[in-house]
Amino acid sequence: MFSSLAKLFQLKAAASVKLHATEICSECGSRLAQSNSPDVSETEWHCPNPDCPPQVLKRVIAWAEAIEIPGCDASLVAQLVQRGLVRDAAEFYRLKLSELESLEGCDAVRARTVWDGIQSSRKREAWRVLAGLGIPRVGANEARLLCQHFATLPDMFAANQMQLEQRTGVSALEARSISDWYGDPVNRRLVRRLQKAGVNLQC
Ligand SMILES: [Zn+2]
Repeated sequence: MFSSLAKLFQLKAAASVKLHATEICSECGSRLAQSNSPDVSETEWHCPNPDCPPQVLKRVIAWAEAIEIPGCDASLVAQLVQRGLVRDAAEFYRLKLSELESLEGCDAVRARTVWDGIQSSRKREAWRVLAGLGIPRVGANEARLLCQHFATLPDMFAANQMQLEQRTGVSALEARSISDWYGDPVNRRLVRRLQKAGVNLQC
């Protein structure tokens, strides 16, 4: 009796694993990956493709909000992403005024406001830049705290997990999230591209 019940549970567990393993992202067709976050009690599945359209949109909106670009609301950002004009934070700084003017609902006056806003966003405080990068667990509060302890964002990223924890008092999970994020060459390049675009990284 017990052994057959155990077997049934094993089969059920195996079936659910198999079901998830074959699930694909409805947006881009990538095979979903299992979340390895240590504090997620239930298994979570996510699309691992960083170029998956909803993820790109989410990241770009997060940047526009954190860095506060006047007149640049979610619908404008959606158009920029759909047209392939902006795929990440650094691409805002390559936008031409004429490209903004070509967007729906963006007349010359609004385009100018947004364009000026993008140019002046280079001078925002570094904690806004950090919060806008979309690092898991690093919102405005954590970003402010981290910036108090480093001279520049590149200095902060150069610190290892242990140093981040000890020096700033962020949690182990937050420190690990930052190290993991910066461990991705695409993200390291993004920070360099922002720096090259003249975005303020001085804390
Ligand atoms: Zn996807």
